[in-house]
Amino acid sequence: MSRGTLFDKVWQQHTVGTLPSGQTQLFIGLHLIHEVTSPQAFAMLRERGLKVLYPQRTVATVDHIVPTDSLARPLQDSLAEEMLQALEANCREHGIPLFGIGSGRQGIVHVIAPEQGLTQPGMTIACGDSHTSTHGAFGAIAFGIGTSQVRDVLATQTLALNKLKVRKVEVNGTLAPGVYAKDVILHLIRHLGVNGGVGYAYEFAGTTIAQMSMEERMTVCNMAIEGGARCGYINPDETTFAYLKGRPFAPQGEAWETAVAWWRSLRTEVDAEYDDVVVFDAATIAPTVTWGITPGQGVAVDETLPSLEMLPESERGIAQEAYDYMGLQPGQPIRGTKVDVCFIGSCTNGRISDLREAAKVLEGRKVKPGVKAFVVPGSERVKAQAEAEGLDTIFEAAGFEWRNPGCSMCLAMNPDKLQGRQVSASSSNRNFKGRQGSAAGRTLLMSPAMVAAAAITGEVTDVRQFL
Ligand code: SF4
Repeated sequence: MSRGTLFDKVWQQHTVGTLPSGQTQLFIGLHLIHEVTSPQAFAMLRERGLKVLYPQRTVATVDHIVPTDSLARPLQDSLAEEMLQALEANCREHGIPLFGIGSGRQGIVHVIAPEQGLTQPGMTIACGDSHTSTHGAFGAIAFGIGTSQVRDVLATQTLALNKLKVRKVEVNGTLAPGVYAKDVILHLIRHLGVNGGVGYAYEFAGTTIAQMSMEERMTVCNMAIEGGARCGYINPDETTFAYLKGRPFAPQGEAWETAVAWWRSLRTEVDAEYDDVVVFDAATIAPTVTWGITPGQGVAVDETLPSLEMLPESERGIAQEAYDYMGLQPGQPIRGTKVDVCFIGSCTNGRISDLREAAKVLEGRKVKPGVKAFVVPGSERVKAQAEAEGLDTIFEAAGFEWRNPGCSMCLAMNPDKLQGRQVSASSSNRNFKGRQGSAAGRTLLMSPAMVAAAAITGEVTDVRQFL
């Protein structure tokens, strides 16, 4: 059992009691809700005559179903309009703040909570979306939950959970130019496996992580869940505090000093004991691209695809399935794989720094004719900031479409969908079969800069040639 980690401290501080099942009843400090996983939860509350216990600890936004071109109401998709109206009505009824379209605060739930200063160190956070692990970048313990758990948190502000083991995932050294946080996490998942983190919280540490900005840390923690970990986190430090200071929901005045002292005390102790420790060298990480149907099926951009014999026995079945689905062959280079659609966005890589890196690659260059390329900023705030910096002009001059914020083609619950067997170069987090809106669509995950490079050439390209 781990001891002295931030995870242990936060878990202990939020423990309400032990349930007859042996699970911990854990208090949830912040509950983030959106239009897709909340309507049934509210309906279940209504059936039992229950109220939301802590509306002041609940914040809503709309992201999954919003169109990214026209935002005119009613939305063209009547089902999406219905979901939006249901969220608006539920928030009104229960007194829950809603960051709606046009509020200046709307966006992907895992983008807006940090940028508003709602996400803070030492918190427990829950949201009905798998990538809630993102908030761990601040030293919060954050869980993605299902609809029945959304109901539980609305009604009781607690969750029944099994305590996790803690694995320290240390990455040391300086990343080479053209290698980004996305490459780090794709590399880690490739080597630890998509199920390697089952039963664990991942504590990301080491000099590489320490040197990262908050946005880069969010990218890493965002995909902890893709490595099987229930959550991922990074100990809060000066970078965390500098990011939070002055944000709308961050503590202000004297409360700020008190909060920072508290946050420092939550850091993992130097003599902490972990259940497992793994160490990676940043110098071995190259721009990484997935070739298969799980985020662990990735290779460096200058590598060839693995033969089945090169893979552990347990991975050969899914690798064969991936080759059949993707239409790729063992031994072929990933570089040069043709792409039809290039998507920059999502809660993994739809933040301002992601857009800046992609724009650097695109400035003065053009999208290859025939390639559809579009950028979906992670939030209204990211969009406004990008426009203030002229990034929209760079994207549009290159041939990218400049859209409104939302989840968009990360999971294609809005009109942004792949067609048929199209191949997408995507800065999102999942490459599962059919994830981007076509049952036969194919997704290659990579960093936003790599997506920009692919848009220019129409094929998987090493972004370093453009830097
Ligand atoms: S961008 Fe994708 S992963 Fe992130 S919240 Fe939206 S659907 Fe979920």
